Amino acid sequence: MDSTFARKKHIHFFTRILQILPNRYSMLDTSRLTVTFFALSGLDILGALDTLTDTNKQEIIDWIYSLQVIPNRSKSNLGKCGFRGSTSNGVTTQQYVKVTDSANAYDSSHIAMTYTGLACLLILGDDLRLVNKYACLQGIKALQLPDGSFKSTYDGSENDMRFIYCACCVCSILDDFSAIDQNAATSFMLKALSYDGAFGQGQDQESHGGSTFCACASLHLMGRLHRTLSKKKMKRLLHWCVNRQCKGFHGRAHKDDDTCYSFWIGASLRLLGQYDLVEFKENESFILSTQDVIVGGFGKWPQMHPDALHSYMGICGLALMGLYNLDPIEPALNITLRAKTHMDSVHEKWRELRKQKQLVTERSRQRTKSGSTIDRTHTGTVVLAFVLGLGTIIVPWIYKTYTGAS
Ligand SMILES: [Zn+2]
Repeated sequence: MDSTFARKKHIHFFTRILQILPNRYSMLDTSRLTVTFFALSGLDILGALDTLTDTNKQEIIDWIYSLQVIPNRSKSNLGKCGFRGSTSNGVTTQQYVKVTDSANAYDSSHIAMTYTGLACLLILGDDLRLVNKYACLQGIKALQLPDGSFKSTYDGSENDMRFIYCACCVCSILDDFSAIDQNAATSFMLKALSYDGAFGQGQDQESHGGSTFCACASLHLMGRLHRTLSKKKMKRLLHWCVNRQCKGFHGRAHKDDDTCYSFWIGASLRLLGQYDLVEFKENESFILSTQDVIVGGFGKWPQMHPDALHSYMGICGLALMGLYNLDPIEPALNITLRAKTHMDSVHEKWRELRKQKQLVTERSRQRTKSGSTIDRTHTGTVVLAFVLGLGTIIVPWIYKTYTGAS
C-alpha cells in the first residue's frame, strides 16, 4: 500500500457512500443514519463538505428530519421518540404532521441513531429548530435502566456502555442532562472497571478499547471524569491505554492492531490529557497501511476492503495527531471542532431565548399583580363615590324629616 495520504480518493469514498452502498451494507439498512454520519463527518474532517451542493445538504437535512419519531396525539409513544436509523421499521414523518395513535406500534427510535442524526444536523449547519427536544429527552429518559445503564430501544435490547455514551452525546447536543440519572450511570461505569484498569461493556466484562472510550467520553461530557477516577485508577487506566499500542492500536490485550482503535484509544488518551504518550510515527504508518489508494477509504487491517466505520475512524486517528491539514476534532462528541463551535452557538441562542421568555413571563406576572392592585383601588373608589353620593341624598332627607325644614 502507498504510504501517501490519498485525500482525494477518501473524499470520493465518503461522497460515494452518501449516494449508493455496496450490497454487503444491506444488513445495515436499519442504521443508515450512522453510515451517513461517518460520511458527513469524514468529509468535514477532510475539509470537503463543500463538495456537496446546498441542495444536497438540504435534501439530507430533510431526510434526517423525516426520520424523527414525534409524539402521537395522546403522547403515549414519548418513550419511543428520537430518531430512527431509516424507514425500515416505520414511516417517514412529515414535519408538523401529528401522528395518530394507530401509527406503527414497532416504530421506535434507536439511541445511536438519535445521537448520529443530531450530529449530522450540526455538521450540516442546521440549527436544530425542528428537533422536538422535549420528546427526544423523554425518549432518552425511558431507556435508562435501574442499574444506570441504557438500552438502545424502548422495546428492549442489549444495555451497556455504548448506549450510556450515546445518551450523554444526545444530552450534550440538546444542552440538557435532566434525562439522565448521572449518579446511577457513573455507578454502572465504575462497576465496569476491570481488574486490569480499563473499562468493559459492563460489570465482569473484559476491558475493551471501545467501552473505555465510551466511559471516558461519557464521564467527560457529564463533567466528572477527573473527580470520578482516583489518581490510582487514572494511572492504571493510562497504563492500559498506552500498552494497547503496538504499531497502531488494538482494542484488547493480545489482539492485532486495528485502524479504529487509533481513535477509540487515542481519543481516550486525549480526554485523559495524555495524548503525548502516543508514538505518532508508528501510529501514522499503521493507519496509512490500511488505506485503499484505489477506491479510497480505510480497512480494519492492511489489504482489507475499506468500510465506512474504519474509513471514518482512520481519518479521526490521523486528525487526532494533527496531520495532513485535517480539521481538528472534539474527541468526546466525535465531531469536528467546527461543528462543536456551531453547536455552542446554537446553545447560546437557546439560552438567549430562554432568558427572553423568562423576562416576558416576569413582566406579565408583574402586570397581573399591578393590574389587580389597580382593580382593588378602582373598586374602592366606586364604593366611596357611591357612599358619598348616597350621603348627599340621605343626609338632607333625614335633616328634613326630623327638623320639618322645607
Ligand atoms: Zn475496528
